[in-house]
Amino acid sequence: MSAPRTGTVRVLADRDVCVGAGNCVFADEAVFDQDDDGLVVVLVEEPPDGDGVRRAVQTCPSGALRLIDG
Ligand code: SF4
Repeated sequence: MSAPRTGTVRVLADRDVCVGAGNCVFADEAVFDQDDDGLVVVLVEEPPDGDGVRRAVQTCPSGALRLIDG
Protein backbone atom coordinates (compact mmCIF):
# COMPACT_ATOMS: atom_id res chain seq x y z
CA MET A 1 0.00 0.00 0.00
CA SER A 2 1.41 3.40 -0.95
CA ALA A 3 1.19 6.39 1.31
CA PRO A 4 -1.11 9.18 0.14
CA ARG A 5 0.60 12.21 -1.33
CA THR A 6 -0.25 15.32 0.62
CA GLY A 7 2.05 17.99 -0.81
CA THR A 8 1.56 20.36 -3.68
CA VAL A 9 3.39 20.57 -6.97
CA ARG A 10 3.96 23.40 -9.39
CA VAL A 11 2.70 22.90 -12.94
CA LEU A 12 4.56 24.50 -15.83
CA ALA A 13 2.93 24.49 -19.27
CA ASP A 14 4.73 25.61 -22.42
CA ARG A 15 1.98 26.84 -24.71
CA ASP A 16 4.50 27.22 -27.56
CA VAL A 17 4.95 23.44 -27.45
CA CYS A 18 1.34 22.39 -26.73
CA VAL A 19 -0.38 20.80 -29.72
CA GLY A 20 -3.87 20.94 -28.25
CA ALA A 21 -4.40 17.22 -27.87
CA GLY A 22 -6.41 17.66 -24.68
CA ASN A 23 -5.00 14.66 -22.84
CA CYS A 24 -4.24 16.86 -19.86
CA VAL A 25 -7.85 17.99 -19.52
CA PHE A 26 -9.00 14.40 -19.76
CA ALA A 27 -6.51 13.43 -17.06
CA ASP A 28 -7.41 16.22 -14.62
CA GLU A 29 -10.07 18.73 -15.63
CA ALA A 30 -9.82 20.50 -12.27
CA VAL A 31 -6.29 21.62 -13.10
CA PHE A 32 -6.18 21.89 -16.91
CA ASP A 33 -8.40 23.52 -19.52
CA GLN A 34 -8.02 24.49 -23.16
CA ASP A 35 -8.55 27.92 -24.70
CA ASP A 36 -10.46 28.59 -27.92
CA ASP A 37 -7.41 27.54 -29.93
CA GLY A 38 -7.14 24.28 -28.00
CA LEU A 39 -3.99 25.31 -26.16
CA VAL A 40 -3.55 24.31 -22.56
CA VAL A 41 -4.60 26.65 -19.78
CA VAL A 42 -3.45 25.81 -16.26
CA LEU A 43 -6.31 26.54 -13.89
CA VAL A 44 -4.44 25.67 -10.69
CA GLU A 45 -0.71 26.37 -10.84
CA GLU A 46 0.04 24.71 -7.52
CA PRO A 47 -2.43 21.83 -7.25
CA PRO A 48 -2.39 19.08 -4.66
CA ASP A 49 -0.04 16.38 -5.82
CA GLY A 50 -2.11 13.58 -7.26
CA ASP A 51 -2.45 10.88 -9.84
CA GLY A 52 -4.43 13.05 -12.27
CA VAL A 53 -1.77 15.74 -12.47
CA ARG A 54 1.00 13.21 -12.93
CA ARG A 55 -1.02 11.30 -15.54
CA ALA A 56 -1.50 14.56 -17.46
CA VAL A 57 2.24 15.12 -17.64
CA GLN A 58 2.89 11.51 -18.63
CA THR A 59 0.26 11.44 -21.37
CA CYS A 60 0.92 14.83 -22.94
CA PRO A 61 2.14 13.93 -26.45
CA SER A 62 4.19 17.07 -26.94
CA GLY A 63 6.04 17.24 -23.64
CA ALA A 64 4.54 20.65 -22.91
CA LEU A 65 3.92 19.96 -19.23
CA ARG A 66 6.37 19.77 -16.36
CA LEU A 67 5.93 19.28 -12.65
CA ILE A 68 8.17 20.73 -10.00
CA ASP A 69 7.79 19.02 -6.67
CA GLY A 70 6.87 21.51 -3.98
S1 SF4 B 1 -1.95 17.19 -23.31
FE1 SF4 B 1 -0.15 18.45 -23.80
S2 SF4 B 1 -0.41 18.95 -25.95
FE2 SF4 B 1 -2.39 18.25 -25.21
S3 SF4 B 1 -3.50 20.11 -24.58
FE3 SF4 B 1 -2.47 19.30 -22.79
S4 SF4 B 1 -0.50 20.37 -22.73
FE4 SF4 B 1 -1.32 20.61 -24.78
